[in-house]
Amino acid sequence: MYKNPLNLTSQFYFCGLPLRLDSYSGCSFKCKFCFALNRGGKNYWSKVNEADPSFIEKKFQFIEKRKSFGVVNEMLIQRVPIHFGGMSDPLQKAELKFGITLSFLKSLAKRNYPLVISTRSPLAFEEPYISIFKNYTNLLLQFSFTTFDDKKISTFEPFSSKASEILKGINKLRKHGINVSIRWQPYIPEFSEHPNEVIDKLSDSGAQHVAIEYLKIPLPRGRNLLWNNMLKPISDTNQLYNKLGSNVQGREILLNIENRKETILSLRDNLHKRNISFGAADIDLLYLSDANCCCSGADLFKGFENWFKFQFSYAVKKSFHSHTIQFSSIEKEWNPKASIKEYIYPNSRLKDNDNSVFQHIKHRWNNLISKNNPTMFEGVKPTDEFDSTGMRIYKWDSGIRNRMIN
Ligand code: SF4
Repeated sequence: MYKNPLNLTSQFYFCGLPLRLDSYSGCSFKCKFCFALNRGGKNYWSKVNEADPSFIEKKFQFIEKRKSFGVVNEMLIQRVPIHFGGMSDPLQKAELKFGITLSFLKSLAKRNYPLVISTRSPLAFEEPYISIFKNYTNLLLQFSFTTFDDKKISTFEPFSSKASEILKGINKLRKHGINVSIRWQPYIPEFSEHPNEVIDKLSDSGAQHVAIEYLKIPLPRGRNLLWNNMLKPISDTNQLYNKLGSNVQGREILLNIENRKETILSLRDNLHKRNISFGAADIDLLYLSDANCCCSGADLFKGFENWFKFQFSYAVKKSFHSHTIQFSSIEKEWNPKASIKEYIYPNSRLKDNDNSVFQHIKHRWNNLISKNNPTMFEGVKPTDEFDSTGMRIYKWDSGIRNRMIN
C-alpha cells in the first residue's frame, strides 16, 4: 500500500502548485527519462503500489470538521490547487485493476476542488473518466509528449500510445468543454521536432495551452548510474550535452540558455499566432510563461485563483518590468503556518523551531549559497542592498531580460 499520496513538494520555493497527489507509487509507462525513477531507484518500476482509495474522502471529511491541522490541510482549506500525477501516471495500467484515481476523482469532483491532472494515458478519453471530467469545471488535464511523431514516440516512451491518438483524444475532450493543455516535456535536443513542424498538430488538437521543458540530466551519483545511457537511442548523453554546451544547475545538467532560447521563443511565437497560451517550464525561464502561476497555465482558467503565490517565481514575474525584485512584493501573500519539517530533507530543516513556509522562503531569499533563491532565474542578479526589514534586493540584468523577450 502506498502510504503518502498527498504531499507538499520541495518545489514550494518557486512553484504555484506545490501540492502533489499520486494514486500509485511506481509507473508502468517506464519512460526512459523519468525523474521519479531517478528518485525512486531501479525498484521504482518493478512494482506499482496503490494508495488507499478512501484517502482523499477521509482527508476532506477531517478538514470539513476542522479536526486536523498541518501544512497540507491548511492548503486544502485554502483551496490551493492540487497537481495530480507528480511522481506516477494516475491513469496508468494499474488504474484498470485498482481504480484508486477514480475514487480520488469522485471526492475531488464532488467539491469541484481545483485540480491539474498530468497524464500520457488514453484512459482519460474513456468512461467513466470522461463523464466526471465533463461536470468538473475546476479541472485542467495536461498531456505530456516528447515528440508528436508516431514513428519516434517509443524511443523514449516505450509504453505510450501514438501521439496522433492522444491528440485525437484531446480534441474529443475539448469538444466536451474540458480544459486541456499539452506539456512538451522533456524536449530532447536532436530528437524532438522544431516547433514550426508541429504547430499545426498542436493547434488542431484544440489544446488551450502548451508548455515546453528541456531535458535535464541528473548529475551522476550512486544509483543514478541508471541514467548513464539515457540518451543512447540517439546519442551518448555526456557527449551530446558537452557538444551542445551545457551547465550544472543544482543537481542537474541543463543545456545553456543560448541553446534553448530559439526553440522556446519560436514555440511561444507560433502559439501566440494561434491564440494558444504558452508556458516556459524550464525553472530558470518560468517568468516567460503567459500565466503567473507556473508553466501549467492553471491560473488562466477559472477556479484556480488560489494558486500558491508566496514564492520566488511570483516575485520575479511580478517584477518583470521593474528594476529590482523585492521580498515585499510577496510578503503579504497567503502562506500556511504549520511546520514543513516532515516534508523536507533533514539537512534542509532550519535550526530554530520555526520551520514554517514563511521562514524557509525568507531564509532562502537571503541565502546566496542555496540553489533556491531568486538568482535561480535567468537574468536575476543579487545586489548588496537590503530593504528596511533586512531582506536582500535583487535586480534584473536588463540585457539578458531583453534578450529573453526578443
Ligand atoms: S508517465 Fe510520468 S511518472 Fe510515469 S514513467 Fe513516464 S515520466 Fe515517469
